[in-house]
Amino acid sequence: MQFLSKTLTAITCAVLLCSASAFAQYKLPQSHDKQHSELLASQKPMAADIKVSNVLRYMSELQKTALPDEEEVFGDYWASSGVNPYAGVTIPETKDIDVSGYVHPISGRVTSAFGYRPRFGRIHRGIDLSLKIGDTVRVAFDGKIRLTKFERRGYGYYVVVRHTNGMETVYGHLSKFLVKPNQIVKAGDPIALGGNTGRSTGPHLHFETRYLGLAINPTELIDFENGVTIKDTYSFNKQQVEKSNVRKTAKKRYASRRKSTASRRKTASKK
Ligand SMILES: [Zn+2]
Repeated sequence: MQFLSKTLTAITCAVLLCSASAFAQYKLPQSHDKQHSELLASQKPMAADIKVSNVLRYMSELQKTALPDEEEVFGDYWASSGVNPYAGVTIPETKDIDVSGYVHPISGRVTSAFGYRPRFGRIHRGIDLSLKIGDTVRVAFDGKIRLTKFERRGYGYYVVVRHTNGMETVYGHLSKFLVKPNQIVKAGDPIALGGNTGRSTGPHLHFETRYLGLAINPTELIDFENGVTIKDTYSFNKQQVEKSNVRKTAKKRYASRRKSTASRRKTASKK
């Protein structure tokens, strides 16, 4: 910043010098001349500051501001063998996440939605997309492979990718890995082949979108019918996402059933 302001002063000075010679025919008041020479006397020569080392330092400062979180994204909470490596992290109330570089992992139809499954008493933290065994699964955003693992009773063969936008995506029930941990990937790169491994009743891709470990309903940011994001920026809201991750108790289920019946009655009575 200091360098920038010095350069600006030097440029101003040069402009003043030029204008002084160009408009020499116009008589300026004596006081102006005096001020002008005083101003010139107080300046250092312009060349003194324009050194290659200064320019390089200034450019590296600029670069630092252009890539603020890169180190943070891939450095913190990285070395973990879990799907959620963010134990103890402070999750912000809100966060705007850049999802503009999205590439659809596979063009299958949605066979199972995100959310609580009363039949199994558990939360489905992703979305299921139909595929044929051996279909290419592509990575959704730019990033770095964090895990390639096998879980017999759950995800089967699965990949976890951390992205430059701060999110993580999970790809489950795969048949083959095409990447290794710590590998840098670009959105759309093939990362695996689809399969039917783990707890799976037919070939499909289990796909999760997470932020700091919290599973976000993928339909909040992705239009699955068209394979694109809804908006370029996803407005993460901790409270809302946490709510969608809560396992409903029988009492709560009863209450929500009663509520929906009541609202149905209300709508019906309006007709
Ligand atoms: Zn699933």
